[in-house]
Amino acid sequence: MITDTHAHLYYPELKTNLSEILLRAEDEGIERIIVPAVDLNTSREVIDMSEKNDMIYCALGVHPCDVKDNKLSVFDELEKLLGHEKVVAIGETGLDYYWDKTNSEDQKEFFRKQIDIAKSYKLPIVIHTRDSIDDAVNIIKENYDEDLSGQFHCFSGDERQLNQILELDNFYVSYCGNITYKNYAGTEVILRTPVDRLLSETDSPFLPPVPYRGKKNEPSYIVNTLKKISEIKNMEYDVLLKNVSQNCEKLFWDNIIK
Ligand SMILES: [Zn+2]
Ligand SMILES: [Zn+2]
Repeated sequence: MITDTHAHLYYPELKTNLSEILLRAEDEGIERIIVPAVDLNTSREVIDMSEKNDMIYCALGVHPCDVKDNKLSVFDELEKLLGHEKVVAIGETGLDYYWDKTNSEDQKEFFRKQIDIAKSYKLPIVIHTRDSIDDAVNIIKENYDEDLSGQFHCFSGDERQLNQILELDNFYVSYCGNITYKNYAGTEVILRTPVDRLLSETDSPFLPPVPYRGKKNEPSYIVNTLKKISEIKNMEYDVLLKNVSQNCEKLFWDNIIK
């Protein structure tokens, strides 16, 4: 049983073919897909999708790149949606200094706010980092307690940054399809990632794995990324799948009391 923990299925290029995409995912053994929102509108849309499709679950939040278009009061409305039975996480949140660093203080404020919400609802957080891992890890550390758990999605850090995350119980990392590209430089970091701290994701429609480069990524392609991880770690594919599935279950489903 495979979970794609990160697929933006509401983007037009995926949404228009949703039923075929979900069928192809099922054919590849994917049972659940977590769709992370990026703002209030997409949060509502994700809930709607989850009500129409058994395999879809929701992460609700404001993406760091969408902070510029939002005020903190957006969370008054967003919190009203968190009681929905298919909400399994807060996010995606985090920090993105690649596209815009000028509002980094606002991004931090939104990140801290979503950490607070995650704690009070006892939900894990889905963390986006781009050129910002050290700041994101520091903010997690400052706010860390036993109720906080989460995923550093599309992890691109080095071994030092990985080790900092591994010091935090209940935090996991996941890798996207770019690990299959020839110029990928993080193989050693994947090798050093313990299998009990690893999750599975696609980040659809972005970063499709080989041999789908140039296409829109979709959940069924997760198999190619997971096979690459099993090769790098010299671990049987089925053993990797079993471990990663247990981690997904533990982080997103075990602790939810509804
Ligand atoms: Zn992201
Ligand atoms: Zn994302």
